[in-house]
Amino acid sequence: MTDRKAQLAANLAQVEERITSSCTSAGRKREEVTLIVVTKTYPASDVRILHELGVRHVAENRDQDAAPKATACADLSLTWHFVGQLQTNKVRSVTSYADVVQSVDRAKLVTALSAAAVRGERELGCLIQVALDAEGGARGERGGVAPDGVEELAAAIGAAPGLRLDGLMTVAPLAGEYAGRQRAAFDRLMEISSRLRAGHPAANMVSAGMSGDLEDAVAAGATHVRVGTAVLGVRPRLG
Ligand SMILES: *Cc1c(COP(=O)(O)O)cnc(C)c1O
Repeated sequence: MTDRKAQLAANLAQVEERITSSCTSAGRKREEVTLIVVTKTYPASDVRILHELGVRHVAENRDQDAAPKATACADLSLTWHFVGQLQTNKVRSVTSYADVVQSVDRAKLVTALSAAAVRGERELGCLIQVALDAEGGARGERGGVAPDGVEELAAAIGAAPGLRLDGLMTVAPLAGEYAGRQRAAFDRLMEISSRLRAGHPAANMVSAGMSGDLEDAVAAGATHVRVGTAVLGVRPRLG
């Protein structure tokens, strides 16, 4: 085993242990939580090693980095999640490799994603990114739609050809009433998810929790956690 592979294996084992013990504490089954490894800023060679180590879900946040990486790893059976703020001019590229876009936060993006999915003859999974620090239809600092805008976007995605409404995603806010209160933030996301599922029963994915707060997310009921740093190491640059 190369040094890098040994290091990633050890980190993955630690993250796995954290997820397992959080599930146990919450009385949940380990299979209820899917680990998505956020590979942003790390090379395709790491994605390849992660695949060898059993990882099947990866996430990226910038199309410029993600597109070549996905191409280099096209032979691997991986589910690619796009989790970054998305400009409509990148939609066509992202739709060519992403299986799920977790950062859908405005109607214009829904229209663009739908057109690209139809043109590419594929079905694209969509999560609505919820900004828990925004109100009144506003968008959050780090993307996302305010909770009161979720229903309208859900209806738009539900009606859009080529798109499949899979659920919700959030990033714990750094400001506002939920700053530093991850568990409360994720509990709030779960409430919004329950309301969404009343009208869209298949939209049951809840993507929440990162390296620093995955325990809170699992305790609240998240179905997917997105972990970068704890698996790959501290990123060399902001991403
Ligand atoms: C980078 C990123 C993550 C992973 O964060 P870590 O703290 O490195 O685990 C999760 N979600 C999103 C949206 C990200 O941009």
